[in-house]
Amino acid sequence: MTTLSDRLEFVVGGKAATVLAEEFDIHTVEDLLRHYPHRYATQAKELSDTPPAEGDRITAMGYITKTELKQIRNNPRQKLLLVTLDTDQYRKPVQATFFNGNKVNHVLKADMRVMFSGTVKYFRESWSLQHPGYLVMSEDDDAPVKGAGALGGLAKAATGPGGLDKAIFDRSLIPIYPATAKFESWDVFRCIRQVFDLLDDVPDPLSPEIRAEHGLIELGTALRLIHLPDHKHDVDAAKDRLRFDEAAALQLSLALRRREAHSRPAPACAGRDGGLLDAFDARLPFELTEGQLEVGEEITYDLSQRHPMSRLLQGEVGSGKTVVSLRAMLRVIDSGYQCALLAPTEVLAAQHARTLRSMLGELATAGELGAAEEATSIALLTGSMSTAAKREALLKIVTGDAGIVVGTHALIQDNVDFFDLGFVVVDEQHRFGVEQRDQLRSKGRDGVSPHMLVMTATPIPRTIAVSVLGDLETSTLRQLPAGRSPIVSRVVPAESKPQWVDRAWQRIREEVAEGRQAYVVCSRIGDGENDELIEPKDDDDDGKAKKPPTVAVVDLFEQLSAGPLAGLRVGLLHGRLPADEKDATMRAFGRGELDVLVSTTVIEVGVDVPNATTMVIMDADRFGISQLHQLRGRVGRGKHAGLCILITLSKGPALERLNKVAATNDGFQLATLDLETRREGDILGAAQSGTKSNLRLLSLIDDLPVILEAQKFAREVVAGDPTLADHPGLLGMARAAVNHQRLDYIDKN
Ligand code: ADP
Ligand code: MG
Repeated sequence: MTTLSDRLEFVVGGKAATVLAEEFDIHTVEDLLRHYPHRYATQAKELSDTPPAEGDRITAMGYITKTELKQIRNNPRQKLLLVTLDTDQYRKPVQATFFNGNKVNHVLKADMRVMFSGTVKYFRESWSLQHPGYLVMSEDDDAPVKGAGALGGLAKAATGPGGLDKAIFDRSLIPIYPATAKFESWDVFRCIRQVFDLLDDVPDPLSPEIRAEHGLIELGTALRLIHLPDHKHDVDAAKDRLRFDEAAALQLSLALRRREAHSRPAPACAGRDGGLLDAFDARLPFELTEGQLEVGEEITYDLSQRHPMSRLLQGEVGSGKTVVSLRAMLRVIDSGYQCALLAPTEVLAAQHARTLRSMLGELATAGELGAAEEATSIALLTGSMSTAAKREALLKIVTGDAGIVVGTHALIQDNVDFFDLGFVVVDEQHRFGVEQRDQLRSKGRDGVSPHMLVMTATPIPRTIAVSVLGDLETSTLRQLPAGRSPIVSRVVPAESKPQWVDRAWQRIREEVAEGRQAYVVCSRIGDGENDELIEPKDDDDDGKAKKPPTVAVVDLFEQLSAGPLAGLRVGLLHGRLPADEKDATMRAFGRGELDVLVSTTVIEVGVDVPNATTMVIMDADRFGISQLHQLRGRVGRGKHAGLCILITLSKGPALERLNKVAATNDGFQLATLDLETRREGDILGAAQSGTKSNLRLLSLIDDLPVILEAQKFAREVVAGDPTLADHPGLLGMARAAVNHQRLDYIDKN
């Protein structure tokens, strides 16, 4: 009689359908059935010893034991009605107060069975419901149901066109829906019940075998039970099934995507004996770590295949990812193809080019006098370069003279032509979305897709990696190269210990006297209004408290140069300086011509000056956890121990958070901590805003077991049926999944 795809007006009537469409963007029977209750009013029979908390919305059911009218002072015409309710839920009687006592007094009487629904308010030790919605449940089946407030709608719903349905009140669990003033929970419930009266059997995309294997109930049953459960275990079984579906849909779409990407042709890069890579390895000044060797082998294998590699390389800051990626690039060049290295900013691109040139030495000087025979050449291409320099770079790229091309995202967005691009390395995944990965695939010659390696120093918790980056294989560098001293972090509460701040500057002077360098990082530029670089975190203090102003980098630069750091060579770096100035400052610091760099977070990612040992972060509470971890990874990269000083004016939870960051250097632990303090929406990022999310029950943070189970399921199905042509139901699920093109692990910090 009705199916999931039917439009609602034929089932619930035009008026309700219009409101549902306007208020909730609900149009079809399925849309409505996927509008799950967000809680259930329990009429649980177990007595609870724990009283509810201030502000809790509760529904209490029981018998009235006492009513009492009370005069309100200074208002002879108005009276309060105090009602005492004996419930099966709370050990102590529930008190409710009505302000229009004269009126309610005629409805609510002792010995009546009633339901109250309202918000808990405390006065000293005892709590009551203030003016709750109420419903009188008559024992007499034909008597009209009386109700008011939030429950008045329920009374109306129960006495709808189908007559009185007392069954609603006898439910041990009453679904409460996300609702609006125009369409209350009870209106939704009424429509849901109308749908179930007419609904045909719901086809199930999961076969009985699959359901049995995963211990899941049928889809039709699950939909019914989430709306009309009799017991808590009904709700659990329904949610298990529906949650699995959400995870499976997401994983199926990722598996399809992975399969599709993998089926494209790519250049098989087997490398060459006696080529660049061998020459490079021969001059490498250190031994590769075990982890570097292992990951190197994984990449070598992938590169030798005729299908594109899609691999994520994660590893702590300083774990040696750059060497790993460079060795992979050299293998590709040895195989006759070009490589591109994409960096998130121009400063970083320039730095990468310098790092690679210095690591390669004469191996990067092709075309120059006295170059090694197997040498290649590195081209840098950034937006702010002069036209002449750009033209020269573009020429080297199109002729294939440049073996490695370093640049920002502009490299793949603009019409840059490669001679024969075989491999793309992306530094810092979290600033690089799926769309860019796709664009990149089109940069190869004759429809061939380049291999891709995405590197990130922000550890991505497993659940996120699996659900959001599920189309990538993952490699992890867990160990730092030997001889690295761990970074020590100290929190300085500037208000209570101002002398410690002075000590921080003193410490910088001492390090500089030893020949080392230091960073001082600020959250704000200060060259204009509204230049706060960091979104205020909402998890600190009590949120509303006005925060003290932050230190601006331009001001601090002046103060330090004139005061505590006078006499030292201090440089200033922030994002609004001209590109060549930024680059010159970075270079000077890299060459040791500056002792201290006072900077904004432009130095956050990838900047590598091994001689820098100390970092002072001002207003550290304004930064996100992973960002602080990234920042401090800039020091202690050489043989000298690193020190990071976190200065803050905050107290309370914000200070607590900083202490936790200072207490560990384990990036994965910090990533988890970070995740806990953020909301799910941040992870889904733009994908969720403005669009209807298909993730209603699945939590990308908490539901790792389900996600893994669904991943295994999805990969197996897609392996046997690469386009899901034989599984139309599953294909439908995958298509309806979150539009993962736009799903990206966006680090908002
Ligand atoms: P990441 O890119 O992961 O942050 P890098 O590749 O920049 O790390 O390495 C950090 C520093 O450690 C660089 O100066 C690099 O030359 C050095 N390094 C890399 N691998 C090793 C190793 N196996 N042994 C000693 N030093 C290493
Ligand atoms: Mg690096």
